[in-house]
Amino acid sequence: MAANLLIPNLDPRALARELSNKHLIGGRLVAPASGKGFDVRHPATMEVFAQAAEGDASDVDAAVKVAATAQKDWAKLPARQRGRMLAEAARLLEAHKEELAQLVCLETGKAIRTECRGEAAIHIDTYLFFAGLASELKGETIPYSPDVLAMTVREPLGVVAAIIPWNVPMGLMALKVAPALVAGNAVVVKSAEEAPFCTLRACQIMNQVLPPGVFNILSGMGPECGGPLAAHPLVKKVTFTGSVAAGKSVALAAAKKLIPVTLELGGKSPMIVLEDADLDRAVEGAVVSMRFTRQGQSCSAASRMLVHTSLHDEFVKRLKAKVDQFVMGDPFDEATDIGSIVSPGQYETVQKYLKIGDATPGAVGHRCSQVPTAPHLKNGLFVQPVLFTGLPRDSAVVCEEIFGPVTTILPFDDFDDAIDMANSTEYGLAATIWTNDLKRALTGMQRLEAGFVQVNQNLIVQAQLSYGGIKASGMGREASLESMIEHFTHSKTILVNLK
Ligand code: NAD
Repeated sequence: MAANLLIPNLDPRALARELSNKHLIGGRLVAPASGKGFDVRHPATMEVFAQAAEGDASDVDAAVKVAATAQKDWAKLPARQRGRMLAEAARLLEAHKEELAQLVCLETGKAIRTECRGEAAIHIDTYLFFAGLASELKGETIPYSPDVLAMTVREPLGVVAAIIPWNVPMGLMALKVAPALVAGNAVVVKSAEEAPFCTLRACQIMNQVLPPGVFNILSGMGPECGGPLAAHPLVKKVTFTGSVAAGKSVALAAAKKLIPVTLELGGKSPMIVLEDADLDRAVEGAVVSMRFTRQGQSCSAASRMLVHTSLHDEFVKRLKAKVDQFVMGDPFDEATDIGSIVSPGQYETVQKYLKIGDATPGAVGHRCSQVPTAPHLKNGLFVQPVLFTGLPRDSAVVCEEIFGPVTTILPFDDFDDAIDMANSTEYGLAATIWTNDLKRALTGMQRLEAGFVQVNQNLIVQAQLSYGGIKASGMGREASLESMIEHFTHSKTILVNLK
């Protein structure tokens, strides 16, 4: 470990260089067995600022074996002691909040003020939330017979593999690591290629408090590092957040070993605005719901806005006016609202859908805000937010996840039609209804095929509220006590004959 580890380093480039070409296994930064690394770029400039370790099956094997050994003693600690250690680790993170915000800004191109500081704060809150739940890992007593004491206890699963994406790397990592550790498991994380350093740094800081080996992290490519991790015989649970395609491959690896898997996958979330909605509130809500400040790179982004015909044109006008006010620019600039897209691959995906939309007869792509003109950002991956109107309901732009700053706005006349449209994609992650009509709000809540539904708001994922999808958006839940108990422990039934 670096000598000055506990002093926050507010030079993210220097910090990333210090962490270059390293995994964290058994409490120590270690080089990958192959010695190989890959370039990591700041997407707002495309400069290469550091190299991340390119993990492979041998690194996976080393990390999982260390974790399996460490887990045995970790599981023997009283649950509240594990919780206290996690809380102490979270307090250490607190001192590094700005440092972590700057690292995630550098890696992802998300704006420091509107996105990165919030992520740093929320991920710490997640550790604190689960730390306080340690004593809730309870089983049940069963009134089976007066002569038999019957009960269940919850036990940890062993080594948990956590595979995470880049869009909210620390936040989504915490949703997996915190409950897994509190429940007595050890964890091996595979970070996202685009954002390996903020998660490595958070893990390094937490390892100042946690016993070596309970929280390990590897960087590397999906199939070459994530694949062997999911398939490793000593991994007893895989929790994955990412795309549907990769999720299926991880689920297959888990199925071959008959181990449980949690999948948090993509979305194409509907936002239904009924004719009686408060229009100002709905427009404000649309700005937040589409996560424009994150370039729409959110699994629950409201990328299908279904607006009653009577409000449609005014809604589009007001929404465009709002999004126009956002300043797109250098993610480190305090004046910036919207940073860059994360990677060239993601940039190309967005361009592909923009081309489809622009070529569709009758469709209009309303471009909002301005791409920055500063010379140092000339190679940056900036895309104007786009509101598409006039697209047919079966357009790929309407039905497929873009994971970029592109939303579609479609009119409807009839409530039932809006609900049918909302349910018409393969996804089922999040949905919102905007209305003052209680009956239709409640009816809609029941009929919407989604794991997370809200009326007149669209809050982001946060600890305490179970979160997760149905249909192709995944299986399992995160962020709550139930998720910790159901997804990171198994139940053992114990009978004691008293006669
Ligand atoms: P991705 O699937 O490409 O990558 C996610 C992670 O999986 C990365 O760490 C990657 O290296 C790894 N991976 C890729 N292929 C793998 C394989 N064959 N085996 C094992 N690991 C593999 O996704 P992404 O582009 O990083 O993230 C965007 C996707 O994530 C979107 O679909 C988005 O909706 C989804 N997402 C979902 C949630 C949620 O909570 N439901 C949250 C954020 C993002």
